[in-house]
Amino acid sequence: MSRKKLQDLGVQLPLLPTTTVGSFPKPPELMKARADFAKGNISAAALKKEEEKATAFWMDTQEELGLDVLVDGEQYRGDMVAYFAESMPGFEIGDMVRSYGNRYYHKPIIAGEVRWPGPITVDWWKFAQRCTSKPVKGMLTGPYTVMDWSFNEFYTDRRAACLALAREIRKEVEALLEAGAKMIQIDEPATSVRPEELPLVVEAMHQVTDGLPAYFLTHICYGAFRQIYPSMLDIPVENFDLEMANNQLSLLELFREHRFAKDISFGVVDVHSHAIEDLKTVQKRLQQALEVLDPEQVWVDPDCGLKTRTVAEAIGKMRVVVEAARQVREQIVAGTKPVH
Ligand SMILES: [Zn+2]
Repeated sequence: MSRKKLQDLGVQLPLLPTTTVGSFPKPPELMKARADFAKGNISAAALKKEEEKATAFWMDTQEELGLDVLVDGEQYRGDMVAYFAESMPGFEIGDMVRSYGNRYYHKPIIAGEVRWPGPITVDWWKFAQRCTSKPVKGMLTGPYTVMDWSFNEFYTDRRAACLALAREIRKEVEALLEAGAKMIQIDEPATSVRPEELPLVVEAMHQVTDGLPAYFLTHICYGAFRQIYPSMLDIPVENFDLEMANNQLSLLELFREHRFAKDISFGVVDVHSHAIEDLKTVQKRLQQALEVLDPEQVWVDPDCGLKTRTVAEAIGKMRVVVEAARQVREQIVAGTKPVH
């Protein structure tokens, strides 16, 4: 693990730290409040109160489950791109479009110079961090994905739009660091869609992270990984958070061919299925990971955000992740599992 970097930042984590990708389902009361707000029946302040209640619930839940690195759960977001676009001058909100299966969202339009309006997520990060003594990751959507999931009607090309966004998103990263965040996840799920643009993802991430004192993670999914691995390791982050369970761990074959040289948040439960995996299945996935990866580089988490699950399913899936990691950690410490 880039343990040295974490230690320099004052963060102590156990072997096989557990975390989640970022989003949790919104409890029914919050769903109702969002609908009421959309109809103009309640105030923004009343909605925010429900968002805070839901965030506090998820912070308590993560603590109780025993996760090591927590997230705020994104109770205040609709879509991961539209949320940032709605916050930043330069964007207009477009029509509803469908992408990636059943994902519907208002595709934003870049209609002018994009600008950071001042802290977007910082108050939520602070709120979440006040609820716990465990470290909370700052969570942002990366410039490449924001660009890719928006219409560009202003910049000359995709690269110009992406780099303009990178310059502004860096300011949000700096604001999170100033507030005390040590770990920042910059999600780039769109990375694997156009393999020929991987160099742009790398360039933009440099612009967002270079020289900043934090442990950076990125979540990538929907993967055509075969075409971007191993060059994707050039993305300047410490930890890649990858969907592994959903594709029967097939990426491990790639890692056998070419060593995975960074930390990995290894997805051990499928977020697309209602069924909660049993402990044995999840343990086995983790053990298979450790046949190829060094325990020092492995974090353990679900494949992707849990927001499409029910509250009970999300909790069930997190519980089995934590329990599997705990048992495998004990096996390693007891020396019954080979440490590379
Ligand atoms: Zn994902």
